[in-house]
Amino acid sequence: MLEILKAEVLKSANALKQNGLISLTGGNVTGRDPESGYLVITPSGMAYEDLVPEDMVVVDIDGNVIEGTLKPSVDMGGLLYIFRHRPDIHGVIHTHSPYATSFAVLGEGIPCALTTLANEVGSDVPCAPYSRPGSETIGIQVVEHIGDSNACLLQSHGVISVGTNVRHALVAAVMCEDAAKVIYQAKSMGKVERLSDEEITYCRELFLNTYGQ
Ligand code: 13P
Ligand code: ZN
Repeated sequence: MLEILKAEVLKSANALKQNGLISLTGGNVTGRDPESGYLVITPSGMAYEDLVPEDMVVVDIDGNVIEGTLKPSVDMGGLLYIFRHRPDIHGVIHTHSPYATSFAVLGEGIPCALTTLANEVGSDVPCAPYSRPGSETIGIQVVEHIGDSNACLLQSHGVISVGTNVRHALVAAVMCEDAAKVIYQAKSMGKVERLSDEEITYCRELFLNTYGQ
């Protein structure tokens, strides 16, 4: 079941690796099928390059396994909490991408200081307080702190990005890391100026309404 979504989830997990956002078996990808409400989630602790789409796990919103032989991500409880409380979201990606996670280690958000972050993430990236990996609290903290952003840092852990589908969550994860890298470099050279709220809104709307084909 859900063959297209399974393939998309696995393709996105491999794209995270190709873009340097995850090492070894870190991170996870989850997509929600809008029709059935079932979720397709990466299995726990597996190297994505060795997997086939059938290895993805299908679960319901309560975490019951509907299809699949492997154990779902250890973060499933927190991820399901996000899906339950954000009906607009159909893709969630978790990484430990190094530049964004450096901000998370400091407990600092990433200021929206460049147009690409405004375009694709739509806001500053807030940092949610520490919660244990594998806990539902991760989801509770993300829902509380993410606001209008498509990404949220997890203190001393990593990044959660969200989207209306898995592809959008992937774009947010990549752009969040890219922006964190640029802002880290800029901070080492001088003072970082955040864009005004007006410019952030302009850039986001340009991306949503005009950019691309
Ligand atoms: P999983 O491989 O179980 O998804 O765990 C990875 C991770 O990043 C835990 O926070
Ligand atoms: Zn993690």
